[in-house]
Amino acid sequence: MLHKVDQNTDWKSRYQDVLKDLETREQQWVQCEALLRTAISRLSIAGRGLDSGLDQQLRSIQELSRDKHDEKLAAALPKLAEIVASLDSPKKDGKSRRSDPVMLMLELLQNIHFNATQRGQLKEICSELLISVANGHDRDSVSAYIQKLSALINENFGGNNTRGTASSSILPLLQLLDLDESTLEKARALTGDSGEVREQDLNALASLINSQISSNSNGAQSDQMMTTLLEKLALIQGADSATREIQTRVHEGVEDEQWTDTLNDIVNSISSSLKNLEQEKRELENFVVKVTEQLGDVTQAINEDQKDQESNYEDAKSLQSFVQEGIELIQKNSQSSNDLQELKSEISKNIDDIGGGVDDFAERFDERHEATAERNLKLTEQLSQMEQETQELQVMLQENRTKLLYDALTGVYSRMAYDERIQQELARWSRYETLFSYVILDIDHFKRINDTYGHNAGDKALKLVAQLMTTYVRQSDYVFRIGGEEFVLLLTSTAQDNASKLVEKMRAGIAASSFHFKGEPVTLTLSAGITETRDGDDVESIYERADKALYKAKNSGRDCQFIAD
Ligand code: GH3
Ligand code: MG
Ligand code: MG
Repeated sequence: MLHKVDQNTDWKSRYQDVLKDLETREQQWVQCEALLRTAISRLSIAGRGLDSGLDQQLRSIQELSRDKHDEKLAAALPKLAEIVASLDSPKKDGKSRRSDPVMLMLELLQNIHFNATQRGQLKEICSELLISVANGHDRDSVSAYIQKLSALINENFGGNNTRGTASSSILPLLQLLDLDESTLEKARALTGDSGEVREQDLNALASLINSQISSNSNGAQSDQMMTTLLEKLALIQGADSATREIQTRVHEGVEDEQWTDTLNDIVNSISSSLKNLEQEKRELENFVVKVTEQLGDVTQAINEDQKDQESNYEDAKSLQSFVQEGIELIQKNSQSSNDLQELKSEISKNIDDIGGGVDDFAERFDERHEATAERNLKLTEQLSQMEQETQELQVMLQENRTKLLYDALTGVYSRMAYDERIQQELARWSRYETLFSYVILDIDHFKRINDTYGHNAGDKALKLVAQLMTTYVRQSDYVFRIGGEEFVLLLTSTAQDNASKLVEKMRAGIAASSFHFKGEPVTLTLSAGITETRDGDDVESIYERADKALYKAKNSGRDCQFIAD
Protein backbone atom coordinates (compact mmCIF):
# COMPACT_ATOMS: atom_id res chain seq x y z
CA MET A 1 0.00 0.00 0.00
CA LEU A 2 2.82 2.38 0.88
CA HIS A 3 4.31 1.86 -2.52
CA LYS A 4 0.98 2.79 -4.09
CA VAL A 5 0.74 5.97 -2.00
CA ASP A 6 4.14 6.97 -3.38
CA GLN A 7 2.96 6.39 -6.85
CA ASN A 8 -0.09 8.46 -6.01
CA THR A 9 1.97 11.56 -5.09
CA ASP A 10 4.19 10.80 -8.05
CA TRP A 11 1.35 10.95 -10.53
CA LYS A 12 0.12 14.13 -8.93
CA SER A 13 3.43 15.83 -9.46
CA ARG A 14 3.71 14.39 -12.93
CA TYR A 15 0.23 15.64 -13.65
CA GLN A 16 1.21 19.08 -12.44
CA ASP A 17 4.28 18.93 -14.66
CA VAL A 18 2.06 18.24 -17.61
CA LEU A 19 -0.17 21.14 -16.71
CA LYS A 20 2.85 23.42 -16.42
CA ASP A 21 4.06 22.14 -19.72
CA LEU A 22 0.74 22.96 -21.26
CA GLU A 23 0.92 26.45 -19.84
CA THR A 24 4.31 26.96 -21.43
CA ARG A 25 2.90 25.79 -24.75
CA GLU A 26 0.09 28.25 -24.35
CA GLN A 27 2.55 31.04 -23.73
CA GLN A 28 4.47 30.04 -26.81
CA TRP A 29 1.25 30.12 -28.71
CA VAL A 30 0.53 33.61 -27.41
CA GLN A 31 3.94 34.72 -28.69
CA CYS A 32 3.30 33.05 -31.94
CA GLU A 33 -0.06 34.69 -32.12
CA ALA A 34 1.59 38.07 -31.63
CA LEU A 35 3.81 37.26 -34.58
CA LEU A 36 0.74 36.27 -36.48
CA ARG A 37 -0.83 39.61 -35.68
CA THR A 38 2.24 41.34 -37.08
CA ALA A 39 2.07 39.10 -40.12
CA ILE A 40 -1.60 39.98 -40.53
CA SER A 41 -0.91 43.67 -40.49
CA ARG A 42 1.96 43.20 -42.95
CA LEU A 43 -0.24 41.01 -45.08
CA SER A 44 -2.93 43.62 -45.07
CA ILE A 45 -0.47 46.16 -46.44
CA ALA A 46 0.93 43.82 -49.04
CA GLY A 47 -2.44 42.37 -49.98
CA ARG A 48 -4.40 45.59 -50.00
CA GLY A 49 -6.23 46.25 -53.24
CA LEU A 50 -5.72 42.77 -54.64
CA ASP A 51 -9.24 41.67 -54.00
CA SER A 52 -12.30 43.33 -52.47
CA GLY A 53 -13.23 40.26 -50.43
CA LEU A 54 -9.69 40.00 -49.15
CA ASP A 55 -9.65 43.70 -48.32
CA GLN A 56 -12.80 43.39 -46.27
CA GLN A 57 -11.64 40.27 -44.49
CA LEU A 58 -8.22 41.77 -43.77
CA ARG A 59 -9.81 44.86 -42.36
CA SER A 60 -12.03 42.91 -39.99
CA ILE A 61 -9.20 40.58 -39.00
CA GLN A 62 -6.93 43.53 -38.34
CA GLU A 63 -9.60 45.06 -36.14
CA LEU A 64 -10.14 41.78 -34.32
CA SER A 65 -6.43 41.24 -33.88
CA ARG A 66 -6.01 44.75 -32.51
CA ASP A 67 -8.84 44.32 -30.03
CA LYS A 68 -7.67 40.82 -29.08
CA HIS A 69 -10.97 39.08 -29.80
CA ASP A 70 -9.25 35.75 -29.91
CA GLU A 71 -12.23 33.52 -30.59
CA LYS A 72 -13.58 35.73 -33.32
CA LEU A 73 -10.08 35.98 -34.74
CA ALA A 74 -9.73 32.24 -34.80
CA ALA A 75 -13.08 32.01 -36.55
CA ALA A 76 -12.15 34.69 -39.08
CA LEU A 77 -8.83 33.16 -40.08
CA PRO A 78 -10.16 30.18 -42.02
CA LYS A 79 -12.35 32.57 -44.00
CA LEU A 80 -9.31 34.64 -44.82
CA ALA A 81 -7.44 31.56 -45.94
CA GLU A 82 -10.39 30.66 -48.14
CA ILE A 83 -10.42 34.06 -49.80
CA VAL A 84 -6.67 34.09 -50.24
CA ALA A 85 -6.82 30.62 -51.73
CA SER A 86 -9.56 31.68 -54.12
CA LEU A 87 -7.70 34.80 -55.30
CA ASP A 88 -6.45 33.02 -58.36
CA SER A 89 -9.85 31.97 -59.60
CA PRO A 90 -11.49 34.35 -62.06
CA LYS A 91 -13.55 37.16 -60.62
CA LYS A 92 -17.31 36.95 -60.84
CA ASP A 93 -17.69 40.40 -59.44
CA GLY A 94 -17.31 42.74 -62.37
CA LYS A 95 -17.01 45.95 -60.43
CA SER A 96 -13.78 47.79 -60.76
CA ARG A 97 -12.13 47.30 -57.39
CA ARG A 98 -10.09 50.40 -57.04
CA SER A 99 -10.17 53.61 -58.92
CA ASP A 100 -6.45 54.29 -58.57
CA PRO A 101 -5.11 54.17 -62.15
CA VAL A 102 -1.97 52.34 -61.07
CA MET A 103 -4.04 49.58 -59.52
CA LEU A 104 -6.33 49.54 -62.50
CA MET A 105 -3.32 49.22 -64.76
CA LEU A 106 -2.18 46.28 -62.66
CA GLU A 107 -5.62 44.74 -62.82
CA LEU A 108 -5.75 45.15 -66.53
CA LEU A 109 -2.38 43.50 -66.89
CA GLN A 110 -3.42 40.80 -64.49
CA ASN A 111 -6.26 40.06 -66.83
CA ILE A 112 -3.80 40.01 -69.68
CA HIS A 113 -1.57 37.78 -67.65
CA PHE A 114 -4.39 35.29 -67.43
CA ASN A 115 -4.03 33.66 -70.80
CA ALA A 116 -0.67 33.53 -72.49
CA THR A 117 -1.83 33.61 -76.10
CA GLN A 118 -4.41 36.32 -75.53
CA ARG A 119 -1.86 38.22 -73.50
CA GLY A 120 0.49 38.42 -76.46
CA GLN A 121 -2.27 39.76 -78.66
CA LEU A 122 -3.51 42.20 -76.04
CA LYS A 123 0.00 43.44 -75.48
CA GLU A 124 0.41 44.12 -79.14
CA ILE A 125 -2.92 45.90 -79.48
CA CYS A 126 -2.28 47.99 -76.38
CA SER A 127 1.14 48.99 -77.62
CA GLU A 128 -0.19 49.95 -81.02
CA LEU A 129 -3.13 51.75 -79.49
CA LEU A 130 -0.84 53.74 -77.22
CA ILE A 131 1.44 54.65 -80.10
CA SER A 132 -1.54 55.74 -82.04
CA VAL A 133 -2.70 57.86 -79.11
CA ALA A 134 0.79 59.24 -78.62
CA ASN A 135 0.96 60.23 -82.29
CA GLY A 136 -2.39 61.86 -81.90
CA HIS A 137 -3.20 61.91 -85.60
CA ASP A 138 -4.57 58.59 -86.58
CA ARG A 139 -8.17 58.70 -85.36
CA ASP A 140 -9.45 55.86 -87.48
CA SER A 141 -6.82 53.47 -86.29
CA VAL A 142 -7.65 54.20 -82.65
CA SER A 143 -11.19 53.22 -83.37
CA ALA A 144 -9.95 50.10 -85.12
CA TYR A 145 -7.78 49.17 -82.12
CA ILE A 146 -10.64 49.61 -79.71
CA GLN A 147 -12.72 47.30 -81.89
CA LYS A 148 -9.90 44.77 -82.08
CA LEU A 149 -9.61 44.97 -78.37
CA SER A 150 -13.31 44.50 -77.84
CA ALA A 151 -13.31 41.49 -80.13
CA LEU A 152 -10.39 40.00 -78.26
CA ILE A 153 -11.93 40.66 -74.88
CA ASN A 154 -15.24 39.19 -76.02
CA GLU A 155 -13.44 36.14 -77.31
CA ASN A 156 -11.37 35.92 -74.16
CA PHE A 157 -14.31 35.91 -71.83
CA GLY A 158 -16.49 33.90 -74.13
CA GLY A 159 -19.50 35.42 -75.93
CA ASN A 160 -22.42 35.41 -73.49
CA ASN A 161 -20.17 35.19 -70.54
CA THR A 162 -19.12 38.82 -70.72
CA ARG A 163 -21.22 40.21 -67.88
CA GLY A 164 -19.11 42.81 -66.17
CA THR A 165 -15.81 41.13 -66.91
CA ALA A 166 -15.25 42.76 -70.25
CA SER A 167 -16.23 46.16 -68.97
CA SER A 168 -13.91 45.79 -66.01
CA SER A 169 -11.11 45.16 -68.46
CA ILE A 170 -11.95 48.04 -70.75
CA LEU A 171 -12.39 50.60 -68.02
CA PRO A 172 -8.79 50.41 -66.79
CA LEU A 173 -7.66 50.92 -70.33
CA LEU A 174 -9.88 53.96 -70.66
CA GLN A 175 -8.36 55.24 -67.46
CA LEU A 176 -4.93 54.91 -69.02
CA LEU A 177 -5.98 57.04 -71.94
CA ASP A 178 -6.44 59.96 -69.54
CA LEU A 179 -9.84 60.88 -70.92
CA ASP A 180 -11.65 63.77 -69.33
CA GLU A 181 -14.14 63.02 -66.59
CA SER A 182 -17.32 63.53 -68.61
CA THR A 183 -16.10 61.29 -71.43
CA LEU A 184 -15.10 58.68 -68.89
CA GLU A 185 -18.54 58.98 -67.33
CA LYS A 186 -20.22 58.37 -70.69
CA ALA A 187 -17.86 55.51 -71.35
CA ARG A 188 -18.67 53.99 -67.99
CA ALA A 189 -22.35 54.26 -68.76
CA LEU A 190 -21.79 52.49 -72.07
CA THR A 191 -19.70 49.65 -70.68
CA GLY A 192 -21.77 49.55 -67.50
CA ASP A 193 -21.01 47.57 -64.40
CA SER A 194 -23.82 45.12 -64.77
CA GLY A 195 -24.85 44.80 -68.40
CA GLU A 196 -23.17 42.91 -71.17
CA VAL A 197 -20.82 44.79 -73.42
CA ARG A 198 -22.45 44.70 -76.81
CA GLU A 199 -20.84 45.31 -80.15
CA GLN A 200 -22.80 48.53 -80.70
CA ASP A 201 -21.87 49.84 -77.27
CA LEU A 202 -18.23 49.25 -78.07
CA ASN A 203 -18.59 51.06 -81.36
CA ALA A 204 -20.20 53.99 -79.58
CA LEU A 205 -17.36 53.86 -77.09
CA ALA A 206 -14.77 53.91 -79.84
CA SER A 207 -16.28 56.98 -81.46
CA LEU A 208 -16.57 58.68 -78.07
CA ILE A 209 -12.87 58.15 -77.47
CA ASN A 210 -12.12 59.30 -80.99
CA SER A 211 -13.94 62.55 -80.52
CA GLN A 212 -12.16 63.12 -77.24
CA ILE A 213 -8.77 62.38 -78.75
CA SER A 214 -9.40 64.52 -81.82
CA SER A 215 -10.65 67.42 -79.70
CA ASN A 216 -7.34 67.62 -77.89
CA SER A 217 -4.99 65.82 -80.17
CA ASN A 218 -1.93 67.93 -80.43
CA GLY A 219 1.66 66.86 -79.91
CA ALA A 220 2.07 68.34 -76.45
CA GLN A 221 -1.03 66.60 -75.13
CA SER A 222 0.12 63.23 -76.46
CA ASP A 223 3.59 63.72 -75.01
CA GLN A 224 1.99 64.60 -71.73
CA MET A 225 -0.08 61.42 -71.93
CA MET A 226 3.03 59.37 -72.56
CA THR A 227 4.93 61.05 -69.73
CA THR A 228 2.03 60.50 -67.34
CA LEU A 229 1.90 56.86 -68.34
CA LEU A 230 5.63 56.47 -67.82
CA GLU A 231 5.57 58.17 -64.47
CA LYS A 232 2.80 55.89 -63.35
CA LEU A 233 4.78 52.91 -64.55
CA ALA A 234 7.91 54.12 -62.81
CA LEU A 235 5.94 54.32 -59.58
CA ILE A 236 4.91 50.70 -59.84
CA GLN A 237 8.39 49.64 -60.70
CA GLY A 238 10.38 51.31 -57.97
CA ALA A 239 14.02 50.31 -57.97
CA ASP A 240 13.98 48.09 -61.04
CA SER A 241 17.03 48.94 -63.14
CA ALA A 242 15.47 47.72 -66.39
CA THR A 243 12.66 50.24 -65.93
CA ARG A 244 15.06 53.04 -65.22
CA GLU A 245 16.79 52.15 -68.46
CA ILE A 246 13.47 52.39 -70.34
CA GLN A 247 12.69 55.69 -68.62
CA THR A 248 16.05 57.06 -69.66
CA ARG A 249 15.40 55.97 -73.22
CA VAL A 250 12.01 57.71 -73.25
CA HIS A 251 13.31 60.89 -71.67
CA GLU A 252 16.07 61.03 -74.23
CA GLY A 253 13.55 60.70 -77.02
CA VAL A 254 12.20 57.70 -78.86
CA GLU A 255 11.98 57.60 -82.65
CA ASP A 256 8.56 56.76 -84.07
CA GLU A 257 9.68 53.39 -85.31
CA GLN A 258 11.15 52.47 -81.91
CA TRP A 259 7.93 53.03 -80.01
CA THR A 260 6.64 49.51 -80.51
CA ASP A 261 9.81 48.01 -79.03
CA THR A 262 9.85 50.49 -76.17
CA LEU A 263 6.23 49.87 -75.29
CA ASN A 264 6.79 46.16 -75.49
CA ASP A 265 9.70 46.54 -73.08
CA ILE A 266 7.49 48.50 -70.73
CA VAL A 267 4.77 45.87 -70.82
CA ASN A 268 7.32 43.07 -70.31
CA SER A 269 8.87 44.87 -67.41
CA ILE A 270 5.48 45.36 -65.75
CA SER A 271 4.65 41.76 -66.34
CA SER A 272 7.87 40.64 -64.65
CA SER A 273 7.28 42.82 -61.63
CA LEU A 274 3.75 41.45 -61.50
CA LYS A 275 5.24 38.00 -61.33
CA ASN A 276 7.26 39.06 -58.30
CA LEU A 277 4.15 40.43 -56.67
CA GLU A 278 2.39 37.22 -57.54
CA GLN A 279 5.19 35.20 -55.93
CA GLU A 280 5.04 37.27 -52.78
CA LYS A 281 1.29 36.95 -52.67
CA ARG A 282 1.54 33.19 -53.04
CA GLU A 283 4.04 32.90 -50.20
CA LEU A 284 1.74 34.86 -47.97
CA GLU A 285 -1.21 32.73 -49.01
CA ASN A 286 0.64 29.54 -48.18
CA PHE A 287 1.71 30.96 -44.91
CA VAL A 288 -1.80 31.99 -43.90
CA VAL A 289 -3.20 28.64 -44.93
CA LYS A 290 -0.51 26.89 -42.90
CA VAL A 291 -1.04 29.10 -39.88
CA THR A 292 -4.74 28.38 -40.07
CA GLU A 293 -4.11 24.64 -40.20
CA GLN A 294 -1.71 24.83 -37.31
CA LEU A 295 -4.13 26.90 -35.34
CA GLY A 296 -6.57 24.02 -35.85
CA ASP A 297 -3.96 21.49 -34.65
CA VAL A 298 -3.25 23.50 -31.53
CA THR A 299 -6.94 23.80 -30.74
CA GLN A 300 -7.37 20.07 -31.26
CA ALA A 301 -4.40 19.24 -29.03
CA ILE A 302 -5.75 21.50 -26.31
CA ASN A 303 -9.18 19.87 -26.62
CA GLU A 304 -7.64 16.42 -26.30
CA ASP A 305 -5.65 17.49 -23.25
CA GLN A 306 -8.86 18.84 -21.80
CA LYS A 307 -10.58 15.50 -22.42
CA ASP A 308 -7.66 13.66 -20.82
CA GLN A 309 -7.89 15.92 -17.81
CA GLU A 310 -11.58 15.12 -17.48
CA SER A 311 -10.91 11.39 -17.84
CA ASN A 312 -8.17 11.62 -15.21
CA TYR A 313 -10.57 13.38 -12.91
CA GLU A 314 -13.30 10.76 -13.46
CA ASP A 315 -10.78 7.97 -12.92
CA ALA A 316 -9.44 9.57 -9.76
CA LYS A 317 -12.99 9.84 -8.42
CA SER A 318 -13.82 6.25 -9.18
CA LEU A 319 -10.44 5.18 -7.76
CA GLN A 320 -11.27 7.05 -4.60
CA SER A 321 -14.64 5.33 -4.19
CA PHE A 322 -13.04 1.99 -5.13
CA VAL A 323 -10.41 2.42 -2.40
CA GLN A 324 -13.13 3.63 -0.04
CA GLU A 325 -15.18 0.51 -0.70
CA GLY A 326 -12.05 -1.65 -0.18
CA ILE A 327 -11.35 0.00 3.16
CA GLU A 328 -14.97 -0.41 4.24
CA LEU A 329 -14.77 -4.07 3.29
CA ILE A 330 -11.59 -4.49 5.36
CA GLN A 331 -13.28 -2.80 8.30
CA LYS A 332 -16.33 -5.00 7.94
CA ASN A 333 -14.20 -8.13 7.65
CA SER A 334 -12.09 -7.19 10.64
CA GLN A 335 -15.21 -6.65 12.73
CA SER A 336 -17.08 -9.76 11.64
CA SER A 337 -14.28 -12.30 11.53
CA ASN A 338 -12.99 -14.12 14.56
CA ASP A 339 -10.47 -16.26 12.79
CA LEU A 340 -7.21 -14.33 12.53
CA GLN A 341 -5.88 -16.50 9.71
CA GLU A 342 -9.07 -16.09 7.71
CA LEU A 343 -9.09 -12.36 8.47
CA LYS A 344 -5.48 -12.01 7.29
CA SER A 345 -6.19 -13.73 3.99
CA GLU A 346 -9.45 -11.71 3.49
CA ILE A 347 -7.67 -8.42 4.14
CA SER A 348 -4.74 -9.44 1.97
CA LYS A 349 -7.22 -10.19 -0.84
CA ASN A 350 -8.92 -6.81 -0.29
CA ILE A 351 -5.55 -5.07 -0.45
CA ASP A 352 -4.69 -6.93 -3.65
CA ASP A 353 -8.00 -5.79 -5.15
CA ILE A 354 -7.30 -2.20 -4.19
CA GLY A 355 -3.75 -2.53 -5.56
CA GLY A 356 -5.12 -3.91 -8.83
CA GLY A 357 -7.54 -0.98 -9.10
CA VAL A 358 -4.76 1.49 -8.47
CA ASP A 359 -2.54 -0.25 -11.03
CA ASP A 360 -5.32 -0.03 -13.63
CA PHE A 361 -5.69 3.64 -12.90
CA ALA A 362 -1.93 4.24 -13.06
CA GLU A 363 -1.77 2.40 -16.36
CA ARG A 364 -4.58 4.45 -17.91
CA PHE A 365 -3.00 7.61 -16.60
CA ASP A 366 0.39 6.66 -18.02
CA GLU A 367 -1.17 6.02 -21.41
CA ARG A 368 -2.81 9.41 -21.42
CA HIS A 369 0.32 11.03 -20.16
CA GLU A 370 2.32 9.51 -22.99
CA ALA A 371 -0.23 10.60 -25.56
CA THR A 372 -0.10 14.14 -24.16
CA ALA A 373 3.68 14.15 -24.25
CA GLU A 374 3.61 12.99 -27.85
CA ARG A 375 1.10 15.65 -28.84
CA ASN A 376 3.12 18.30 -27.06
CA LEU A 377 6.27 17.22 -28.83
CA LYS A 378 4.52 17.46 -32.19
CA LEU A 379 3.11 20.86 -31.24
CA THR A 380 6.52 22.14 -30.18
CA GLU A 381 7.96 21.11 -33.51
CA GLN A 382 5.11 22.75 -35.38
CA LEU A 383 5.33 25.92 -33.35
CA SER A 384 9.06 26.30 -33.77
CA GLN A 385 8.73 25.65 -37.48
CA MET A 386 6.00 28.24 -37.67
CA GLU A 387 8.07 30.68 -35.70
CA GLN A 388 10.92 30.25 -38.11
CA GLU A 389 8.66 30.73 -41.10
CA THR A 390 7.12 33.82 -39.56
CA GLN A 391 10.57 35.24 -39.01
CA GLU A 392 11.62 34.52 -42.58
CA LEU A 393 8.43 36.06 -43.84
CA GLN A 394 8.92 39.11 -41.68
CA VAL A 395 12.43 39.57 -42.99
CA MET A 396 11.20 39.23 -46.55
CA LEU A 397 8.34 41.66 -46.05
CA GLN A 398 10.55 44.09 -44.21
CA GLU A 399 13.11 44.06 -47.01
CA ASN A 400 10.46 44.56 -49.66
CA ARG A 401 8.76 47.29 -47.73
CA THR A 402 12.00 49.14 -47.09
CA LYS A 403 12.77 48.93 -50.77
CA LEU A 404 9.36 50.31 -51.68
CA LEU A 405 9.30 53.04 -49.03
CA TYR A 406 12.29 54.85 -50.48
CA ASP A 407 12.68 56.35 -53.91
CA ALA A 408 15.41 54.48 -55.72
CA LEU A 409 16.95 57.49 -57.44
CA THR A 410 16.95 60.14 -54.72
CA GLY A 411 16.73 58.17 -51.48
CA VAL A 412 13.88 60.31 -50.09
CA TYR A 413 10.51 58.70 -49.31
CA SER A 414 8.69 57.16 -52.24
CA ARG A 415 5.25 57.65 -53.67
CA MET A 416 4.11 54.53 -51.86
CA ALA A 417 5.36 55.89 -48.54
CA TYR A 418 3.49 59.11 -49.36
CA ASP A 419 0.23 57.27 -49.99
CA GLU A 420 0.45 55.61 -46.59
CA ARG A 421 1.75 58.54 -44.58
CA ILE A 422 -0.70 61.14 -45.85
CA GLN A 423 -3.61 58.88 -44.88
CA GLN A 424 -2.17 58.39 -41.40
CA GLU A 425 -1.43 62.07 -40.86
CA LEU A 426 -4.92 63.07 -42.03
CA ALA A 427 -6.47 60.48 -39.73
CA ARG A 428 -4.46 61.93 -36.84
CA TRP A 429 -5.56 65.40 -37.86
CA SER A 430 -9.24 64.49 -37.84
CA ARG A 431 -8.97 62.59 -34.54
CA TYR A 432 -6.56 64.69 -32.51
CA GLU A 433 -6.39 67.93 -34.52
CA THR A 434 -2.64 67.54 -35.00
CA LEU A 435 -2.18 70.23 -37.61
CA PHE A 436 0.47 69.96 -40.33
CA SER A 437 1.57 71.84 -43.42
CA TYR A 438 1.53 70.35 -46.86
CA VAL A 439 3.84 71.62 -49.60
CA ILE A 440 4.17 70.64 -53.27
CA LEU A 441 7.50 71.60 -54.80
CA ASP A 442 8.12 71.31 -58.53
CA ILE A 443 11.45 71.96 -60.25
CA ASP A 444 11.16 74.75 -62.83
CA HIS A 445 11.76 73.99 -66.49
CA PHE A 446 13.20 70.64 -65.64
CA LYS A 447 12.64 69.43 -69.17
CA ARG A 448 15.18 72.02 -70.29
CA ILE A 449 17.81 70.54 -67.99
CA ASN A 450 17.22 67.13 -69.55
CA ASP A 451 17.14 68.59 -73.02
CA THR A 452 20.21 70.76 -72.58
CA TYR A 453 22.50 68.60 -70.49
CA GLY A 454 21.05 65.14 -70.98
CA HIS A 455 19.16 62.68 -68.87
CA ASN A 456 22.10 61.88 -66.58
CA ALA A 457 22.42 65.51 -65.61
CA GLY A 458 18.69 65.51 -64.94
CA ASP A 459 19.06 62.54 -62.64
CA LYS A 460 21.98 64.13 -60.78
CA ALA A 461 20.01 67.33 -60.36
CA LEU A 462 17.06 65.38 -58.94
CA LYS A 463 19.32 63.67 -56.41
CA LEU A 464 20.93 66.92 -55.35
CA VAL A 465 17.63 68.74 -54.98
CA ALA A 466 16.14 65.89 -52.92
CA GLN A 467 19.18 65.69 -50.67
CA LEU A 468 19.24 69.44 -50.11
CA MET A 469 15.54 69.35 -49.23
CA THR A 470 16.17 66.88 -46.44
CA THR A 471 18.68 69.25 -44.83
CA TYR A 472 15.99 71.93 -44.38
CA VAL A 473 13.35 69.84 -42.63
CA ARG A 474 13.20 68.52 -39.07
CA GLN A 475 13.48 64.92 -37.98
CA SER A 476 9.70 64.70 -37.64
CA ASP A 477 9.03 66.01 -41.18
CA TYR A 478 8.80 64.07 -44.41
CA VAL A 479 10.16 64.60 -47.92
CA PHE A 480 8.52 62.49 -50.65
CA ARG A 481 9.22 62.26 -54.36
CA ILE A 482 5.69 61.79 -55.66
CA GLY A 483 6.40 62.08 -59.37
CA GLY A 484 9.17 62.87 -61.88
CA GLU A 485 10.39 66.23 -60.54
CA GLU A 486 7.62 66.78 -58.04
CA PHE A 487 8.11 66.58 -54.29
CA VAL A 488 5.78 66.81 -51.31
CA LEU A 489 6.76 67.97 -47.83
CA LEU A 490 4.71 67.05 -44.78
CA LEU A 491 5.71 69.40 -41.98
CA THR A 492 4.23 68.10 -38.76
CA SER A 493 2.86 70.53 -36.14
CA THR A 494 3.73 73.41 -38.43
CA ALA A 495 1.32 76.18 -39.46
CA GLN A 496 1.43 77.39 -43.06
CA ASP A 497 3.17 80.69 -42.26
CA ASN A 498 6.09 78.90 -40.68
CA ALA A 499 6.06 76.34 -43.48
CA SER A 500 6.28 79.23 -45.94
CA LYS A 501 9.39 80.58 -44.21
CA LEU A 502 11.01 77.16 -44.31
CA VAL A 503 10.17 76.70 -48.00
CA GLU A 504 11.52 80.16 -48.81
CA LYS A 505 14.85 79.21 -47.22
CA MET A 506 14.87 75.83 -48.89
CA ARG A 507 14.24 77.27 -52.36
CA ALA A 508 16.88 79.99 -51.87
CA GLY A 509 19.38 77.38 -50.67
CA ILE A 510 18.75 75.11 -53.65
CA ALA A 511 18.90 78.00 -56.13
CA ALA A 512 22.22 79.09 -54.62
CA SER A 513 23.65 75.56 -54.66
CA SER A 514 26.52 75.31 -57.03
CA PHE A 515 25.28 72.51 -59.21
CA HIS A 516 27.66 72.00 -62.09
CA PHE A 517 27.39 69.65 -64.96
CA LYS A 518 30.43 69.07 -67.13
CA GLY A 519 31.94 72.27 -65.78
CA GLU A 520 28.87 74.41 -66.52
CA PRO A 521 26.85 75.90 -63.66
CA VAL A 522 23.19 74.88 -63.82
CA THR A 523 20.55 76.88 -61.98
CA LEU A 524 17.87 74.91 -60.22
CA THR A 525 14.81 76.84 -59.12
CA LEU A 526 11.61 75.51 -57.63
CA SER A 527 8.03 76.68 -57.43
CA ALA A 528 5.89 75.75 -54.45
CA GLY A 529 2.26 75.58 -53.33
CA ILE A 530 1.68 75.58 -49.59
CA THR A 531 -1.32 74.82 -47.42
CA GLU A 532 -2.14 73.60 -43.94
CA THR A 533 -4.75 71.11 -42.74
CA ARG A 534 -8.37 72.25 -42.75
CA ASP A 535 -11.52 70.71 -41.30
CA GLY A 536 -12.80 67.80 -43.36
CA ASP A 537 -9.60 67.49 -45.39
CA ASP A 538 -8.92 64.31 -47.31
CA VAL A 539 -6.05 63.17 -49.51
CA GLU A 540 -7.54 64.81 -52.59
CA SER A 541 -8.67 68.11 -51.07
CA ILE A 542 -5.32 68.92 -49.47
CA TYR A 543 -3.42 68.01 -52.65
CA GLU A 544 -5.74 70.04 -54.86
CA ARG A 545 -5.41 73.13 -52.70
CA ALA A 546 -1.61 72.98 -52.71
CA ASP A 547 -1.57 72.16 -56.42
CA LYS A 548 -3.67 75.23 -57.21
CA ALA A 549 -1.24 77.38 -55.26
CA LEU A 550 1.64 75.76 -57.16
CA TYR A 551 -0.11 76.50 -60.44
CA LYS A 552 -0.34 80.13 -59.37
CA ALA A 553 3.41 80.15 -58.68
CA LYS A 554 4.14 78.67 -62.11
CA ASN A 555 1.87 81.24 -63.73
CA SER A 556 3.56 84.06 -61.86
CA GLY A 557 6.84 83.35 -63.60
CA ARG A 558 8.12 80.45 -61.45
CA ASP A 559 10.88 80.51 -58.77
CA CYS A 560 8.29 81.62 -56.21
CA GLN A 561 5.69 80.22 -53.82
CA PHE A 562 2.07 80.75 -52.81
CA ILE A 563 0.00 79.83 -49.81
CA ALA A 564 -3.37 78.38 -50.86
CA ASP A 565 -6.44 80.67 -50.60
P1 GH3 B 1 7.58 73.45 -65.21
O1 GH3 B 1 8.43 74.57 -64.81
O2 GH3 B 1 6.27 73.89 -65.75
O3 GH3 B 1 7.40 72.48 -64.10
O4 GH3 B 1 8.30 72.71 -66.39
P2 GH3 B 1 9.00 71.32 -66.37
O5 GH3 B 1 9.81 71.18 -67.60
O6 GH3 B 1 9.73 71.14 -65.10
O7 GH3 B 1 7.77 70.36 -66.28
P3 GH3 B 1 7.27 69.15 -67.16
O8 GH3 B 1 6.25 68.47 -66.31
O9 GH3 B 1 6.84 69.62 -68.52
O10 GH3 B 1 8.50 68.20 -67.36
C1 GH3 B 1 9.03 67.46 -66.35
C2 GH3 B 1 10.15 66.68 -66.92
O11 GH3 B 1 10.82 65.91 -65.94
C3 GH3 B 1 9.72 65.71 -67.97
C4 GH3 B 1 10.51 64.46 -67.74
O12 GH3 B 1 11.26 64.14 -68.87
C5 GH3 B 1 11.44 64.82 -66.61
N1 GH3 B 1 11.62 63.72 -65.68
C6 GH3 B 1 10.68 63.05 -64.99
N2 GH3 B 1 11.25 62.07 -64.26
C7 GH3 B 1 12.59 62.11 -64.50
C8 GH3 B 1 13.70 61.35 -64.03
O13 GH3 B 1 13.60 60.42 -63.23
N3 GH3 B 1 14.93 61.69 -64.49
C9 GH3 B 1 15.11 62.73 -65.37
N4 GH3 B 1 16.32 63.00 -65.77
N5 GH3 B 1 14.07 63.44 -65.84
C10 GH3 B 1 12.83 63.15 -65.41
MG1 MG C 1 8.62 71.09 -63.32
MG1 MG D 1 5.98 68.61 -62.81
